Amino acid sequence: MSTIGFIGLGNMGLPMARNLLATGHGVRGFDVVPEALEAARANGVEIAASAAAAARGAEVAITMLPAGEHVRDVYLGAGKLLAAADPGTLLIDSSTIDVATAREVHGAAGEAGLTMIDAPVSGGVSGAEAATLTFMVGGSEEAFARARPLLSLMGRNILHAGGPGTGQAAKTCNNMILGISMIAVAEAFNLGQALGLEAERLYEISSKASGSCWAMLNHHPLPNIVETSAANRDYEPGFAAAMMHKDLKLSQAAAAQAGVATPLGAEATALYTIFVNAGNGGLDYSGIVKLIRGD
Ligand code: NAD
Repeated sequence: MSTIGFIGLGNMGLPMARNLLATGHGVRGFDVVPEALEAARANGVEIAASAAAAARGAEVAITMLPAGEHVRDVYLGAGKLLAAADPGTLLIDSSTIDVATAREVHGAAGEAGLTMIDAPVSGGVSGAEAATLTFMVGGSEEAFARARPLLSLMGRNILHAGGPGTGQAAKTCNNMILGISMIAVAEAFNLGQALGLEAERLYEISSKASGSCWAMLNHHPLPNIVETSAANRDYEPGFAAAMMHKDLKLSQAAAAQAGVATPLGAEATALYTIFVNAGNGGLDYSGIVKLIRGD
């Protein structure tokens, strides 16, 4: 079995690394937070002294970092990952970051003679723990084919989006749909109730009619309608509003760079900014219904 370098052993990275260990791979990990390293060590991860040391000599190096600035720092800056990686090492960035940084790092990897994919995920911490993540992959066909068996150890759906950066593009477009549609569901159910229509009845009708959508069916913003809703647990996440806010901001950065108008994406970003700035970032993103209702 091969050795895999794993950089960023936080809420997502550690359970992903654990799934690799469970299938017999060796994992050599690094994180800047000592507590994260201790937790990783306790789970059987061999601890490296730096990102470069984690990647050196590894068959594959995976990064699972908070944002674009951390990815740039690890690959191109102080982390020196590109300089340390062997020519045969496959680089996988599974962080959710802006498309522009993803393409910049891809370009630098290519110049260094290294193969890279961007492979952001959806499915959250529970998906990372259960190895049921969806990976959205940007990179060449060859790189995708090479990464697929390994990604399958951490996820259920491994999907090729296209060339470099398109994994991040897919993630940002998908989550913009989710953010907008959650607000649409919250607005419609608030209106329905104001019109004397019971939420359960509207769900019964709309979930079988043309207004149906994933946010309504799986994360309904009102309690006691859908079993899997965070609304049933007082909006304990689930998918935190702060994460949705981050993803919507990434969609707006991408839209500005592409010169494309996303008026509803912009509005959704503004609403989540208000919600998060009011101290609700730790609630589930479906809690946005509180803002719509004016709670
Ligand atoms: P996290 O903050 O728990 O973990 C990130 C880890 O990276 C931290 O342990 C941090 O110390 C480490 N780190 C930061 N800079 C570093 C550096 N220079 N070198 C080494 N380690 C460094 O975040 P997370 O929830 O695990 O999310 C990771 C990524 O996955 C993010 O981009 C997030 O948007 C994305 N994501 C998260 C979820 C989720 O539900 N948590 C779902 C889908 C996607």
